[in-house]
Amino acid sequence: MSPPSAPGATPHRVVIVGGGAGGLELATRLGDTLGRRGRVAVTLVDRTRTHVWKPKLHEIAAGSMDMSAHEVGYLAQSHWHHFRYRVGAMVGLSRARKEVLIAPFIDDEGLQVTPARAIGYDTLVVAIGSQSNDFGTPGVAEHAMKLETAADAQRFHARVVNACIRAHAQATPLRADQLHVAIIGAGATGVELAAELYRTTREMVAYGLDRVDADKDIQVSVIEAAPRVLPALPPRLSEATEKLLRKLGVAVHVNAKVAAVQAGGVSLADGRLLPAELIVWAAGVKAADFLKDLDGLESNRINQLVVLPTLQTTRDENIFAMGDCAACAWPEANQGQGGWVPPRAQAAHQQANHMLQQIQRRLVGRPLKNYRYRDFGSLVSLGEYSTVGNMMGGLIGGSLMIEGLFARLMYESLYKMHELALHGSVKVTLDTLARLIVRRTEPHVKLH
Ligand SMILES: Cc1cc2nc3c(=O)[nH]c(=O)nc-3n(C[C@H](O)[C@H](O)[C@H](O)COP(=O)(O)OP(=O)(O)OC[C@H]3O[C@@H](n4cnc5c(N)ncnc54)[C@H](O)[C@@H]3O)c2cc1C
Repeated sequence: MSPPSAPGATPHRVVIVGGGAGGLELATRLGDTLGRRGRVAVTLVDRTRTHVWKPKLHEIAAGSMDMSAHEVGYLAQSHWHHFRYRVGAMVGLSRARKEVLIAPFIDDEGLQVTPARAIGYDTLVVAIGSQSNDFGTPGVAEHAMKLETAADAQRFHARVVNACIRAHAQATPLRADQLHVAIIGAGATGVELAAELYRTTREMVAYGLDRVDADKDIQVSVIEAAPRVLPALPPRLSEATEKLLRKLGVAVHVNAKVAAVQAGGVSLADGRLLPAELIVWAAGVKAADFLKDLDGLESNRINQLVVLPTLQTTRDENIFAMGDCAACAWPEANQGQGGWVPPRAQAAHQQANHMLQQIQRRLVGRPLKNYRYRDFGSLVSLGEYSTVGNMMGGLIGGSLMIEGLFARLMYESLYKMHELALHGSVKVTLDTLARLIVRRTEPHVKLH
């Protein structure tokens, strides 16, 4: 690696690709510390211009969250926190020249904003997250929507609002399945979206779309190939969640493998067809295809870059990966049998903290430390109805199921930690107060 910067020398160049749950925290904190003092030159590259914390996407999709109140503009953030921001999608890498290759950035009208370019680094951190995995299921690309970006969430929300307004305005009676929404995948995303959507569609109809009978006309269903909802979480959580979903009237289909998606419905492997106007694919996880062979770096079968416990990629000590796009061993998983750090916001947050210290160590030539994932459990928000979760190991020395207000507070605290890392305590306190006031004076469901 390059030696620490002497006064007047070119500072060590840290390039972070991906300004998500992990990458933006790292860029901000690195900028606030070493960047501010000119010890490193930090550059953040993201394919979009604004950041929204991904676990909030289902709230935007359902219409219960105003995105503009939670969006962070990269350019302003970089100005206030002493890093540089470059827009564009990473598409390749030259390890020999130590350059990240960035595609041209094209705006919504098809005009080129920035050309293709290469950005040089001394330390590269890849933090580009993950996407859902449709496992090649026929019809998903054409007929199902995904919930991977803020734009996806807004598009879905607009379709839900339009579907309800259309149903209210049409002269003919509603078709039987006109307002049915099918969510494929009953992991946290699918289940959270189902509960949130159930509530917001009812509130929306109550705003005057009185030709729609919410109980009769609107149906939300979740479809899961595994025998239970939330298959990655303890069975007690699945039971509590399924019970609540069914009580709300959400149709839950487990052991239901999707064979194909088509316009107007979902075909199951057992031959059944579940009719639906709106279909969301929220199952599976994989990293971007271009990571599969990124200039010789090692990747796994879902395209994640394989990293050492130091978070360095296995074949290049100058390249690190963290968050969902990294395959990082978790030896304590599965009662000590081993596994991989799960793709979760808490892992991205912890790894951002660890990376900050790794870069500090690299600069002064100290040995790097191993990262150890600390599992604090999982929390699932079922909108205003409930929050369920389990708290794990580190906090209580075992696994404990939690529910209700305490679980809600724990769930919110994960987002607050993210906001604190980005903005500091004064701004977060003021923003929280402002949001509470706005919540009291505005409709709870967004209709745009
Ligand atoms: C709907 C939903 C709900 C979720 N709920 C929870 C939850 O309740 N709890 C939890 O722990 N986790 C949850 N997750 C998972 C959590 O969001 C992720 O684990 C976390 O965001 C991963 O952080 P990251 O920094 O690795 O990637 P991300 O936060 O996904 O950020 C990746 C960033 O990289 C950028 N990017 C992508 N490709 C490129 C490229 N080629 N070039 C440049 N930039 C690029 C993206 O624009 C994005 O800004 C949820 C995920 C979703 C989709």
